[in-house]
Amino acid sequence: LTAESYPQVKRQDFCQITPQAVDFFKSVVGESAVVTDPDDLLFYNEDQMRKYRGQSSLCVKPKTTQQVSEIVKYCHEHKLALVPQGGNTGLVGGSVPVFDEIVLSLSGMNKIRSFDHTSGILKADAGLILENADNFLAEKGYIFPLDLGAKGSCHIGGNVAANAGGLRLLRYGSLHGSVLGLEVVLPDGTIYDSMNALRKDNTGYDLKQLFIGSEGTLGVITGVSILCPARPKAVNIAFLGLESYEAVQNTFKRARSELCEILSAFEFMDRQSQWQAKRFLKTLHPLAQDDPDVDVPEYPFYVLIETSGSCKEHDDAKLETFLESVMEDGTVADGVVSQDESQLKTLWTWREGISEASNMDGGVYKYDVSLPLPVMYDLIEVLRARLDEHGLRSISDASKPVVDVVGYGHIGDGNVHVNVVVREYNKTVEKCLEPYVYQWISDHHGSISAEHGLGFQKKNYIGYSKSEVEIALMKDIKSKFDPQGIMNPYKSSSAEANGSRFD
Ligand code: FAD
Repeated sequence: LTAESYPQVKRQDFCQITPQAVDFFKSVVGESAVVTDPDDLLFYNEDQMRKYRGQSSLCVKPKTTQQVSEIVKYCHEHKLALVPQGGNTGLVGGSVPVFDEIVLSLSGMNKIRSFDHTSGILKADAGLILENADNFLAEKGYIFPLDLGAKGSCHIGGNVAANAGGLRLLRYGSLHGSVLGLEVVLPDGTIYDSMNALRKDNTGYDLKQLFIGSEGTLGVITGVSILCPARPKAVNIAFLGLESYEAVQNTFKRARSELCEILSAFEFMDRQSQWQAKRFLKTLHPLAQDDPDVDVPEYPFYVLIETSGSCKEHDDAKLETFLESVMEDGTVADGVVSQDESQLKTLWTWREGISEASNMDGGVYKYDVSLPLPVMYDLIEVLRARLDEHGLRSISDASKPVVDVVGYGHIGDGNVHVNVVVREYNKTVEKCLEPYVYQWISDHHGSISAEHGLGFQKKNYIGYSKSEVEIALMKDIKSKFDPQGIMNPYKSSSAEANGSRFD
């Protein structure tokens, strides 16, 4: 979708990029770090779901914080809008321009600055790829407190800007807890630096928190200081089949109490998501019991439980006792446990692959939702029924725009991902889903964005999750930091997002 698809969004009164501006940026970062070729710009203009496409004619790739500061200062003085971009893996259209905003890519800033072996504090450039950070830490016996399916491409700065939750949140909590300090270039070019912050420091407001989850609207994150835990020595995965959503909730409750301190992830997937993953991965499903004729076994729900600890014998025994008890009393119908590192990775792919698998038919409408556990799965069933009522869904009939609705997510964090898999992006489908889905979530006391942010997709729907007072405060903060609104305009809670649920 390009800006023409959204006639209600008007280009704001920013200046146009001039040849003098391009020359200035080249003088700051060097010619090779300025992208102007339209083919090369496509990557920076289009989001990873291929749902949103901007029209920027310029991407600048600085290598130092000083360079970022000079670029932003110039944009401030010349009223040029810009979009900070990390790995461009975000799922709400926040990382790409809407019109002709300059893309400021952090991909050239990818160095580890320091690592303290005693405290586990890592300091690094914001453009460091998450997987590279974790691999570095693995060699030192530490782990990055965040993991997610896009780890091979996303940046740690992008993770912080999005306040990504991911697969380890159940164990290590949110980035609001583990990020200790940040270096940020503010919208006028000033450098805010709290990289030397300590774990405990109650002198005044904790300003860094404002940038965590700010989605590039308050400044450009250039450095991250983060507290990393010791890497667990023993990791096990159990992949289970269950007969009902109630059994999923019971298993979660039991896992929390019986696996307790070694429980590190509790992820759930419905059968439809596994069917989608099967079409994508094209390998034997973990519970197909070596029978290639079995597509995806008939269980309506699947759960992936991960345990992590420091003593393998202890963890193995604890997991075995837990699995025996939930299988004996019928809470869990079927299951396998990873036997080695490669099986562990394979089992994770059936969960991590769903996001990419959902995009394979042509597109996906994604809803990333927090809801009270008892009603969480109702949302998926309600949406399937609604799409059926409107004659829009069929797995086999290619003339229908919607293939299916798949549900999966971090049930341990009360967060479900609802992916409406489509053969093409289609206004009729969009209108059938929105704002209905947001109203339903609001009526059930949920959040319309658990971990992906608002971006371009949800900026006008913030009122379904936040009160008028909260929205007004956010607008005040935005205009204090960025009075001209140059930093990632048309997104999130930025000044022009009106926050009204009736728009
Ligand atoms: P981008 O996509 O480039 O940017 C995201 C936002 O942050 C944009 O608004 C951008 O302007 C801003 N931004 C980026 N870098 C900076 C910076 N240095 N300074 C200021 N602003 C910046 N998210 C989850 O929370 N949990 C998951 O489990 C999860 N799984 C995913 C799985 C897959 C396969 C994919 C594709 C995405 C997934 N995501 C998940 C989405 C997630 O938000 C991103 O993958 C990641 O956190 C974004 O990092 P990025 O570097 O790609 O940022």
